[in-house]
Amino acid sequence: MAETVIPLADFRYSATVPSVPLALSAPTGLLSDRLDRPLRDLRISVTDRCNFRCSYCMPKEVFDRHYSFLPQQSLLSFEEITRVARLFVAHGVQKIRLTGGEPLLRKRIEVLIGQLSALRTPAGEPLDLTLTTNGSLLARQAQALKDNGLQRVTVSLDALDDAIFRRMNDADFPVANVLAGIDEAARVGLGAIKVNMVLQRGVNDDQIVPMARHFRDHLGGAAILRFIEYMDVGATNGWRMDQVLPSAQVIARLQEHFPLEPVGANRLGETAARWRYADGAGEIGVISSVTEAFCQDCNRARLSTEGKLFLCLFAHQGHDLRTLLRGPFSDEQIAGTIGLIWQGRDDRYSELRSGMAAPTGSDSTRRVEMHYIGG
Ligand code: SAM
Repeated sequence: MAETVIPLADFRYSATVPSVPLALSAPTGLLSDRLDRPLRDLRISVTDRCNFRCSYCMPKEVFDRHYSFLPQQSLLSFEEITRVARLFVAHGVQKIRLTGGEPLLRKRIEVLIGQLSALRTPAGEPLDLTLTTNGSLLARQAQALKDNGLQRVTVSLDALDDAIFRRMNDADFPVANVLAGIDEAARVGLGAIKVNMVLQRGVNDDQIVPMARHFRDHLGGAAILRFIEYMDVGATNGWRMDQVLPSAQVIARLQEHFPLEPVGANRLGETAARWRYADGAGEIGVISSVTEAFCQDCNRARLSTEGKLFLCLFAHQGHDLRTLLRGPFSDEQIAGTIGLIWQGRDDRYSELRSGMAAPTGSDSTRRVEMHYIGG
């Protein structure tokens, strides 16, 4: 019988304190990395805690009551997050996504949203401010999030069938509450809502058609369902390639029920390939993170819960910005440091993955976990 090895090493401190440049120039909003990719999208993890225990993300065997989550003083404060976000925006970031862990578990998250929604791009435009949630607390919080300036939400939902959903979240959480959260988000105007479904072959692939049918016919197209290939993130989920259901097969299965036509990308760096129902009932997306890597136009940076900057979801090493934020450094110095880090970036793990041996042992244990770095 195959055995899944679950390493218990702590990955959280794999970050170096970056050097602050001596010669400083003001951010231009036109930063690009070594592969000519601009910096446009910042994902901020606001907590490493989650109330779900999805086996592919935070398996119960590892994240149990003995697991030490980050202490409160390690987390970036709202003021620190807003300060560093402002510097990223000066460098060209136009979109900020709050994530985690489960971001709605962070106390008074709406206050942070209020602070971030006041930021403006160098051209004076508001940010595209969004949040990714498991939806469990959304029905209660949607109105406050909207009132404080959140524009959109993405809700993760892996099954419509209650028994499958409860099994997958491994917290016995009913699907009806997430669906109520999506309805409430639509009602208060947090649209267009994206619903992200991570697919694992043999676990929830029988939910593809029911999920598509539900979101086609429900909410008058206010929610866009996106199917995501299960990725080899982190080191605790025992990922195997044979668990991945390629997006091409998802489209083929859907075509048997609902004819689909491809739609062009909305913008550079968009992760999902878009398809629309030929009968006009809205659209879906597929995110082929494994079978068709999209590193060539990846414009995303990720800030961990404790202020470490990661340049790739699959990075082994972060850059400790919190030490700078809590040290005697000016905004100009920290902005200069961020600029240098981005200019040195050449990560493209997903494109290289196919030519690499599957990570095992110490190699896989160096990967950062998704709940820490933010999904
Ligand atoms: N708690 C929030 C949520 O559920 O959306 C935000 C954090 S969660 C880590 C963000 C997203 O990452 C979720 O949609 C989750 O399904 C996805 N995710 C986690 N592990 C993944 C993996 N190995 N492959 C693909 N997606 C994954």
